[in-house]
Amino acid sequence: MQNGKIGVTTENIFPIIKKFLYSDHEIFLRELVSNAVDATQKIKTLASMGEFKGELGDLTIHVSLDEEKRILKISDRGVGMTSEEVDKYINQIAFSSAEEFMQKYQNQTGIIGHFGLGFYSAFMVADKVEVITKSYKEGSKTVKWTCEGTPEYTLEEITEERDRGTDIILYISEENKEFAEKQKIRYLLEKYCRFLPVPIAFGKEQEWKDGKYVDTDKDLIINDTAPIWTKKPSEISDKEYDEFYHKLYPVGEEPLFHIHLNIDYPFNLTGVLYFPKIRNNFEIQKNKIQLYSNQVFVTDSVEGIVPEFLTLLHGVIDSPDIPLNVSRSYLQSDSNVKKISNYITRKVADRLQEIFTNNREEFEKKWDDLKIFIQYGIITDEKFADKAKDFVLLKNTDGKYFTLSEYEELVKSNQTDKDNNIVYVYTNDVEGQHGFIEGAKSKGYDVLVMDGQLDNHFIGWYENKNQNHRFVRVDSEVADKLIDKAESKPLSLTSMQQDVLRPVFESQLPSTDKVNYLVSFESMDENQQPVVITRNEFMRRMKDMSEMGGGMYSFYGQMPDSFNVVVNGNHPLVIDTLGEIQSQLGEELGKLNKKIDKISTEKRNIDEKLKDTKEQDISEDDKNHRDELDKKLAKYTDERTNILKEAGRNNRLVKQLVDLALLSNGMLKGEELTKFIRRSVELIGK
Ligand code: ADP
Ligand code: MG
Repeated sequence: MQNGKIGVTTENIFPIIKKFLYSDHEIFLRELVSNAVDATQKIKTLASMGEFKGELGDLTIHVSLDEEKRILKISDRGVGMTSEEVDKYINQIAFSSAEEFMQKYQNQTGIIGHFGLGFYSAFMVADKVEVITKSYKEGSKTVKWTCEGTPEYTLEEITEERDRGTDIILYISEENKEFAEKQKIRYLLEKYCRFLPVPIAFGKEQEWKDGKYVDTDKDLIINDTAPIWTKKPSEISDKEYDEFYHKLYPVGEEPLFHIHLNIDYPFNLTGVLYFPKIRNNFEIQKNKIQLYSNQVFVTDSVEGIVPEFLTLLHGVIDSPDIPLNVSRSYLQSDSNVKKISNYITRKVADRLQEIFTNNREEFEKKWDDLKIFIQYGIITDEKFADKAKDFVLLKNTDGKYFTLSEYEELVKSNQTDKDNNIVYVYTNDVEGQHGFIEGAKSKGYDVLVMDGQLDNHFIGWYENKNQNHRFVRVDSEVADKLIDKAESKPLSLTSMQQDVLRPVFESQLPSTDKVNYLVSFESMDENQQPVVITRNEFMRRMKDMSEMGGGMYSFYGQMPDSFNVVVNGNHPLVIDTLGEIQSQLGEELGKLNKKIDKISTEKRNIDEKLKDTKEQDISEDDKNHRDELDKKLAKYTDERTNILKEAGRNNRLVKQLVDLALLSNGMLKGEELTKFIRRSVELIGK
C-alpha cells in the first residue's frame, strides 16, 4: 500500500475546487461519464488494432446510486488502469492539470465548458472519492485509490476479483446532497450524456403492473449512441431529421428546413441545423442550438461561435476543435471560431440557394416563415447578405414573389421618377391601407407587402446598397404624387379660392397637441378621393426609429406627429363646397375678399417700390403706410378666417369629407366615430 501526497504546490486546491463555480457543480457527472466513455473507446480501438485480444463483451457504462448512503458509482468496462497508471494519470497529470486550470480561471466568470478540470471535479460534490480499477493488460491486479479531499491519498492493491474496467465511487457530501437524488442524476445524464457514443444505463426500465410502475430487469439506457449528426446525410430520411428535431425540442412545430454540416478540414465540425417555424417573438427562441464536443453536451449558449443571426436556428453543432475551457471574449477572437462561424454562414447560404434553385415553389411557400432569418442575416452579416441577395424575395399584394432583380425589372418602366429613382411602393398593413393601395394600383403601380418585424431594417439596407432605389409607403403621399414624374395637372382652384377653403377644412380637423395637420390642395384625378390624409415617409421613418429606441432619433420622437390633409382640388364635391360657402357667406365674404385683394395689391406695390431702399433710408410716411397695410391685412384676413371657420364648423359635408379621410386611415375613433355614424345615417335619410 502506498500513501502519498498529491502534487505539493497547492495545499488549498481542494477547498477551491469545492467552492469553485458553484452553479456549475453539476458538470462533475459529465466529466466522469466522459472519462468512462474515453476508456471504453480506447479498449475498442485496441481491439480493432489487435492489441487487445480478449472479449470486448457488453460495454455499457453503469451509473448507480444509493440515495440513502449518498453513494454514486460510475462503472465502465474500458481499459482500466494499472497501479502505475493511477499514479501517473490521477496523482500527477490529472491533478496538475486541474491545478493549472484552477489557477487560471478561479477569478473568471462566464467560462463555457470546463474541460480540463476533469477527474478532480468529483471533489466539488464528494467528501471522499474511490477509484477501483483493473487494467485490461494481462496479469493486472485490482487497484484501489482513495482520497478524502485533502492532498493525502492511499493507493493499494486489493484482492477483490473483478473484470477489467473502472469504478469511480463518490461519497456525496451533505452540502451537495441534491446530487444523491435519482431525479437529479437522471436529469443530468439526460442533459449532458444524451448522445454519448457508448450505452449508459441508469436504473431499470419500468412497466405497469398491478396498478403501479415497477422495475423490470432490463437496464434503462438513457442515451442515443448514434445521433443523426454522426451519420451520413445520404443515410438519413427527411422523416428522421424531423424526428430528431422533435427529440431535441418536444414542443414545437415542424421545422422548415434542415442543414447537415460536415467538415473535417481545417477543423472538425458536424451538426444539423434547423430553420424552425417562428413568426413572432424571435427573441425568446434564441439560443436553442446545442453545442457538443464529441457527443458530450457542452452548452446551449452559442453566441460567439455561430454568427448572431444564426442563433435563431435550432439544432446541434459538434466540434472537438472549439476551445471549451476558455472565456467568452477569448472565444470571440479565436481564429478557429471565426473560421467555423464563416463556414456555417456559407453553408446556410448555400443550402438556401440550393433549395431556391431546385425547388422555388417550395421555397416560396415557406418564404413568409423564412423571411425573418434571411433578413436578419442580411442586415447583420455582410458575407451572408452577399449570397442572400440572389434569393431574398419580395412579396406583393397579389401574393406573388419576386427576387430583387425580377422586381426591379417588373416596375422599372412605370415606377421611375423624374430624378431617375426607381420607386418601390409598399404597404405595412394590407387591410388598414386598403384605400391607398387601390389608389396606387389605379396608377398602375405594384404594391409590396412589407409587414414583417425586420422590413424597416431591410428597406434601409436595400436603399443603402442600391443608389437610385427608394421605398415609399403607400400612405405617404396621394397616389398622384407617390412617384413624382413632373407631369403636373393644372389645379382648377385659384389661390384666393384655396385661401377660402383652407380655414373651412381646418375648422373640422381634430385638435390635439400631439398631432399637426397641414391642409394643402392638389390637382388630382376627379375620381380619386376628395380628401386624403398622408404621412410623410421621412418623418414617419424617423418617428419609427425613435420608437425603436435609436438615441439619435429621439429628437424626432419629441416632435408632434404631422399629417398632410390633401384636398383634391378637382373633385366635384370640393368645388361644390366652395360654391356653397361662397353663396352662403355672400356679400360679406365678397367684400372681405375685395378688401384683402385691394390691400394685398397696395402692399405688393409698396414692397416693390421699397425693395432696393435700405431700412434706415425709408421715409416715415412710407413706413407708416406699410405698417398700416400690414395691420389691415391681418385684421381682414383674421375676420375672413373666422367667418370661414364658423361656416366650416356648420358645414356637415366638409365634416363628412374630413371624417371619411380619417376613417380610411383608421384614425377616426371613439366619440368622433359615433358621431360620424349618426351623421351618415341622417344624411342617407335625407
Ligand atoms: P482528461 O480526461 O482530460 O485526460 P481527467 O482529469 O478527466 O483528464 O482524467 C485524467 C486521466 O485519468 C485520463 O486521461 C485517464 O488516463 C485517466 N482516467 C480517468 N478516468 C478513467 C477511467 N474511467 N478509466 C480509465 N482511465 C481513466
Ligand atoms: Mg476527462
